[in-house]
Amino acid sequence: MINADLHIHTIYSADAVIQPKTLIDLLVSHSFIKVAAVTDHDSVRGCRATIELASAYPDILIIPGVEISTTRGDVLVLGTDELPPKPWTPEVVVDFAKSIDGVSVAAHPFRMYGLGKNAFNYKLDAIEVQNGGSSSDANAQAKILARSLGLPGTAGSDAHNISELFSVFNKVNASLNVDSILQSIKKGQVTAQVTRGTKH
Ligand SMILES: [Zn+2]
Repeated sequence: MINADLHIHTIYSADAVIQPKTLIDLLVSHSFIKVAAVTDHDSVRGCRATIELASAYPDILIIPGVEISTTRGDVLVLGTDELPPKPWTPEVVVDFAKSIDGVSVAAHPFRMYGLGKNAFNYKLDAIEVQNGGSSSDANAQAKILARSLGLPGTAGSDAHNISELFSVFNKVNASLNVDSILQSIKKGQVTAQVTRGTKH
């Protein structure tokens, strides 16, 4: 079983202050979360930099990813260190995720910049049902959305600073490699967990 935080920002997001090296140090020292997806806003520079630094630590794993500001709301793509082609509509981004065998996730659907019920219109792979920066009400709505769509629910701290890291995590029935984790998420072998409660 893998414990993973699937939504983290680094200094490569304009609004975040987490250094890649700090994230790695905190993963190395964390008692049970050893996997993190680096998903900067519209940039893959953060995941590339973090993966390069993480290669020296065999016990941790960084999943490459990005949070794309699509025309209808934020969509996470897990499993890529390349940006999707433009225009960044939800359809283009979701299709890109499929083409690379990655995972598309509606990020915080019921918060600002979320897809909301527009998520019904796209062939997403998962819904973020536990976002560390969302209210419990918004997360509850996201759970209902995931259930209505029959999609797996994921968790992400959406950390922009160190104190927000690992507030939530996923238990994934997978081994410690990116493909195994992504395939298990798509099969629904993932459960969203809360480490210490969300912000609000
Ligand atoms: Zn985010």
